[in-house]
Amino acid sequence: MSINLKHYKEILLMRKAELEKILYNLSNEINDINRCEIKDEGDFAAASMDSGRDYQIFLAQKKELEEINEALKKIDEGTYGICEMCDEPIQEERLKIKPYAKYCIICREYIEKEGKKHK
Ligand SMILES: [Zn+2]
Repeated sequence: MSINLKHYKEILLMRKAELEKILYNLSNEINDINRCEIKDEGDFAAASMDSGRDYQIFLAQKKELEEINEALKKIDEGTYGICEMCDEPIQEERLKIKPYAKYCIICREYIEKEGKKHK
């Protein structure tokens, strides 16, 4: 395999540590909000509107962390950098931008197009 696995593993581990720190801080903030006394639905809506943006970030970061963990597992299993859909190697240009990419550019575009069609 031509891609430098050690290099990508380092990038993934670094990003993982970063995300875990962010998630830890965000979940503390979200817990603070949840601990506030919420008496009725209206209060809850107001409280969650403030925290809504944080919560969206929290979910996005959490998803990224999961994808990074999967990518790290693939490195150990020797399947890293292989498209899950067509089994072809993922372009290195793509891995540089998104080291935890699951699909090659062609499959990714196909999935996005299909996703739009179903909406
Ligand atoms: Zn593919």
